[in-house]
Amino acid sequence: MILLLEPNTDPSSIDYNILIEQLTRLPGVTHRVHREIGTEITVTEIYLIGNTGTLSLEDMEALPCVERVVRVSEAYRILGRHKHGDDRPAHFEYNGVRFGQDTLHVFAGLCAVDVPEHVEQMMKALQEHGQVCTRMGAYKPRTNPYAFQGHGAKCLPWVFELAGKYGIKVIAMEITHESHVEEIRQALRQTGNPTGVMLQIGTRNTQNFELLKQVGKQQEFPVLLKRGFGITLDESLNAAEYLASEGNRKVIFCLRGMKTNMGDPHRNFVDFAHVPAVKRLTRMPVCIDPSHSVGTRAVDPQGVLDVFHVTTQGVIAGANMVLVDFHPNPAKALVDGPQALLMKELPHFLEDAALAREAYLKRQALAQKYRH
Ligand code: PEP
Ligand code: MN
Repeated sequence: MILLLEPNTDPSSIDYNILIEQLTRLPGVTHRVHREIGTEITVTEIYLIGNTGTLSLEDMEALPCVERVVRVSEAYRILGRHKHGDDRPAHFEYNGVRFGQDTLHVFAGLCAVDVPEHVEQMMKALQEHGQVCTRMGAYKPRTNPYAFQGHGAKCLPWVFELAGKYGIKVIAMEITHESHVEEIRQALRQTGNPTGVMLQIGTRNTQNFELLKQVGKQQEFPVLLKRGFGITLDESLNAAEYLASEGNRKVIFCLRGMKTNMGDPHRNFVDFAHVPAVKRLTRMPVCIDPSHSVGTRAVDPQGVLDVFHVTTQGVIAGANMVLVDFHPNPAKALVDGPQALLMKELPHFLEDAALAREAYLKRQALAQKYRH
């Protein structure tokens, strides 16, 4: 059960203290407070865990400071959508950019940071095409221990400075260890916070619960969680809930394809049909990663890349974010060159995605018109 308190409830007020005292007295029920401090209002939610089946909604609603009560009907207590009275938001803002189940942002960029010229060419092209987000890998989890592992902390200052120079507001950056959060925080501080970072948890770490807990404990950076490539959707959504249960609910869920040879000739079996499923089950914005799903630059007989096709398939189904690999010189890319799009393909890619977005919005309007 979730108690939604009146906006700006003061935790030092008498009413609030009476409420907490009453909750403490409920037999077999523990509570956890989540406070989200916004620019205008502070939202407080109290999660009641345990034997809540016998509590009546009316009794709970009558408690001081309580505005509304939601009975949790499904798993994913915090991030899920619950059946009755759950109008909690499905969006958040970070560094001036709004991420929601109703928005679309493209994060085109390098799979792995290599040299400053390539990072600069990428960011310059993004700015020229009105983009404020990118992807840049500094910490790369690799199958082969002898393969390039990413430049790590040492590239962060110049990557962040270049991002600031070209107006990039959010960089999706994978981390593979909790210590990377502090390295990112320090590099941002050292460079005067020229940009923002969305911490990415890769598919190999989807169920690294200790990493999830540590990343969930901080609320400074939003998190992009990749679906685990060999586990059920439910297991991956529970992984997202780990982040929220520790306090960070600025979470975006990313579909990136499943590992099975049934997906051949693609690198992974594209799972973008799950975009609406994740939006129905949870309040998380949903990202698609066409690059790691398809994994090649294969083209159809008309010359359209499979990466373009699956992107539009995800966007027309309502995806809110696209994470996509580009590289100014894929032959020189240190990671995943064969799937990278070329700089000259950026305007085509963005226009194609915008076309699919327009079609999605029209489909939404159509659904309203024919509401059954
Ligand atoms: C990536 O986005 O660079 C990446 C490694 O993706 P995944 O974790 O989905 O394999
Ligand atoms: Mn990659």
